[in-house]
Amino acid sequence: MEKFNLEQLIRPNILTLKPYRSARDDFDSGILLDANENSIGPPFSDEHELNRYPMPYQEELRSVIAAYRSVDQKNVFLGVGSDEAIDLLFRIFCVPGKDRVLTTPPTYGMYKVSAGVNDVPVDEVLLNSDFQLEPGKILGGVSENTKIIFLCSPNNPSANSLRREDILRVIHGFDGIVVVDEAYIDFSTQESIASELNNCPNLVVLQTLSKAFGLAGIRLGIALASPEIIEVMMKVKAPYNINKLTSEVAIRAFKNLDSVRQNVLRILNERAKVIERLSNLPQIEKIYPTDANFLIFRIPNALEIYNQLAEEGVIVRYRGNEPHCENCLRLTIGTPDENEHFFNALQKVLKN
Ligand code: PMP
Repeated sequence: MEKFNLEQLIRPNILTLKPYRSARDDFDSGILLDANENSIGPPFSDEHELNRYPMPYQEELRSVIAAYRSVDQKNVFLGVGSDEAIDLLFRIFCVPGKDRVLTTPPTYGMYKVSAGVNDVPVDEVLLNSDFQLEPGKILGGVSENTKIIFLCSPNNPSANSLRREDILRVIHGFDGIVVVDEAYIDFSTQESIASELNNCPNLVVLQTLSKAFGLAGIRLGIALASPEIIEVMMKVKAPYNINKLTSEVAIRAFKNLDSVRQNVLRILNERAKVIERLSNLPQIEKIYPTDANFLIFRIPNALEIYNQLAEEGVIVRYRGNEPHCENCLRLTIGTPDENEHFFNALQKVLKN
């Protein structure tokens, strides 16, 4: 990691980019005749001043998140879901058609889609059959054009956490950016790798309100990184990416952290019951360890079972085409009632 040099990693056009200066950068109170907003307002009564643009840098929400994660506000970027942060990282670091990224399948599909959108080739180093990293192979698999390594912990679709020492070996052994996607961290027994931010200038941690916070509908993703990386992300993002309704709801969620924790515990409790019931079904060959709000299990003829479950109105995800996931279905832990439906449907399908 001695050779880490952020300026050399950033695309030259981004390094010299002059960011858009929005009206709200200069003044956000007074008689606001600067932003071509509609002075009358929306066509219904509204207490949010929705006719006005939101704050470009979302200081309040960022400081709430910073406190929650024990980092500084300068370490926090907010995006329209973590998917926006993933796309921005490609646009900041990867010259299309030239630079490359590395992923560790089976993993979250969006890294590859975003790479495709940005015309960036992807090198793949598989997880081992326990869905753990092979740090030596990963570090041996990078080339001088590899800009970003994407790791996901807990990993989607396998649901396990990656070993912390393996993640750190990759971070410390690579001169480019290492993204650790922690979308499911609040379900995990593991501590967030964000506690290493001060030791790891090349680390970007992705989190989201879509999972443990139960707010997938508001589209709020978080990137935690060095102030220097966050500054570049701020410069490249759309000026008003986080809308007022989203930030208001998010701030409300952080005022209800006890409920977030309780909901997580309820889901984990339900997960234990689901595992217990699955393990009583003789047709199920393997239930993989989970550290998230979902799990994968192996069952003969998984694709057929997936389709038959759908006919019964229960939708799970077929992951059998992913490496090491032959005949695997991915199951999100639902409410007790939803899980009951799942087991009823599964039992019916297995009897056919
Ligand atoms: N990362 C992982 C590993 C995910 O599984 C998902 C959603 N399925 C996301 C990121 C996307 O999160 P967001 O809703 O914040 O875009």
